[in-house]
Amino acid sequence: MKIGFIGLGIMGAPMSQNLKKAGYQVMVFDYSANRMEMAKAAGMELAENSHQIARECGIIITMLPDSPLVKNLLIGENGIAKDMKTGTLVIDMTSGAPNDSRDIYAGLKKLDIHFMDAPVSGGEPMAISGQLAIMAGGDVEDFERAKSLLGVMGSNVTWVGSVGSGNVCKLTNQIIVAVNIAGLAEGLMLAEKAGADTELVFAAIQNGLAGSAVMNAKVPMMLAGDNKPGFRIDLHIKDLTNAMSTGKLFDAPMMLTAQMLEIMKDLSAEGDGSSDHSAIAKYYERLGNAKLSK
Ligand code: NAD
Repeated sequence: MKIGFIGLGIMGAPMSQNLKKAGYQVMVFDYSANRMEMAKAAGMELAENSHQIARECGIIITMLPDSPLVKNLLIGENGIAKDMKTGTLVIDMTSGAPNDSRDIYAGLKKLDIHFMDAPVSGGEPMAISGQLAIMAGGDVEDFERAKSLLGVMGSNVTWVGSVGSGNVCKLTNQIIVAVNIAGLAEGLMLAEKAGADTELVFAAIQNGLAGSAVMNAKVPMMLAGDNKPGFRIDLHIKDLTNAMSTGKLFDAPMMLTAQMLEIMKDLSAEGDGSSDHSAIAKYYERLGNAKLSK
């Protein structure tokens, strides 16, 4: 059975290539000509458009910036769902809003098409190495059908509940990552202003209770002043906006998320929307009138 992959950005390109390397027959599409050129150079089979993928593929993966785009692509006015065979499984790996996932599931179910949300964590390096954390929401039978395929792209593939749960899990992840990065920047700024050597502070605390995967990934970037994405501030703004609207729906306390959203919007307004989210350090550098980067 052919696998369709739509969305060949920072994440989708290596993920689709890993499927091909694992022996799956994969057909890809992105509406960016540049991304299609890159896919062609990587030896991928290109589709004319997403409708061709819908017609020819039994499993279709989407990896787009946000869930309203996915909703429009699948069940919008010119949506590709109408081109799919009954029984097709759509796996949306985009980080989006849980309620959009639920709407898409309901829209596709009417056509006897199956849908799961399965967003990821780990960023570009793990997308390349096939070691993403994948958090899947949907019907258990669909998860069982998708499990080995997902296992090619991720080393930690977890079913977290019914449709929408994948994105609930991802939003949880994104809140924790954002607050963690800000905590790192705030702590290091204190160390810097109080005259400590921030490299030595990092070495001293790295393996203690404050140590984390976020610390290991982001502190070296902060200290080097390297803001190449990685994960763009504008995508994190999208995730925290989805977290805020989901929090509102369920009456959850969201004060730290609200603050992180304001900080990231400020950075975006200052021209850092396409910088890695480690650029939160720049916000602290501005307020603290001191440099973390050496
Ligand atoms: P990206 O912007 O690099 O890629 C998105 C791709 O989708 C682009 O190439 C764009 O041309 C294409 N696209 C958009 N609409 C399309 C459509 N209708 N049809 C065909 N192609 C379309 O984004 P990314 O960094 O690859 O992220 C993708 C998703 O994964 C986002 O939801 C993001 O939040 C999430 N994510 C990203 C990272 C990361 O580190 N970059 C990590 C985890 C999760």
